[in-house]
Amino acid sequence: MGPEIDQVAELLAEARQVVALTGAGISVESGIPAFRGAQGLWERYDPEEYATIEAFRADPVKVWRMLLELDELVSGARPNPAHHAFARLERLGAMHLVVTQNVDGLHQAAGSSRVVELHGTAGRLRCLACGQPRPRAGLDPHNLPPRCACGGLLKPDVIFFGEALPQRAFLTAMAGSQSCSVMIVAGTSAVVVPASHLPMVAKQAGATLVEINPEPTVLSSQLADISLRASAGQVLPAIAEALARRQKAAS
Ligand code: NAD
Ligand code: ZN
Repeated sequence: MGPEIDQVAELLAEARQVVALTGAGISVESGIPAFRGAQGLWERYDPEEYATIEAFRADPVKVWRMLLELDELVSGARPNPAHHAFARLERLGAMHLVVTQNVDGLHQAAGSSRVVELHGTAGRLRCLACGQPRPRAGLDPHNLPPRCACGGLLKPDVIFFGEALPQRAFLTAMAGSQSCSVMIVAGTSAVVVPASHLPMVAKQAGATLVEINPEPTVLSSQLADISLRASAGQVLPAIAEALARRQKAAS
């Protein structure tokens, strides 16, 4: 893996703009299971069944029970070396935008300042009737589903299957993908649309694609220029370290 890490560090050193697209795999090492692959939570709750807006409207209490379990995992989670490496890359001038599909806030907790949350955040609620955001504090697990002052149903401010993405976030992600010269795609199976289109947009605009994922994905066989088959928590800190060494040697 050494030569590939140096190769990516060299790419980053020479890149005009670097954008990352991250997914649930980035947070696995923080103890939050991804959707795909056999892992605890999602063996009991099929996301296709639970994480759809139709399922939520049909039976909000059932979906809220699952959400509270996920919440416990997310609220206890801390950034792992992968999140810290993204923040370090930003400080080194080699990460202009992190586009994440995650809703756990761990990129920001690690210190990344330019983060687009394509699928919203679990740290806030939103009313399905009036559209207003509401703080999560005070949520009573014994009184489900939570309701807004207007009487509407409250859901976490995350995008369920069947809902549109927040428009501003998506436009920023598109613009970043169109203008980057390197895109790092880490910890995502790259099958959830429209996030999965972003690597294609970047590639068509001439970017070099680097994939970090222990498992092969559709991206690796079709689009990626470099595929690092390892965990993000191992590989990303090594890349940031190699870049820092290069910069030091050059100064
Ligand atoms: P996914 O579950 O479809 O895919 C996760 C990918 O991460 C897989 O390809 C897997 O091989 C890879 N992976 C596993 N461990 C890894 C590691 N240590 N390092 C690097 N890669 C690793 O996730 P997705 O593509 O993000 O799409 C699922 C949807 O679920 C997204 O919308 C996401 O918002 C949501 N989700 C979010 C969280 C979170 O916020 N942490 C958790 C679960 C699901
Ligand atoms: Zn309301």
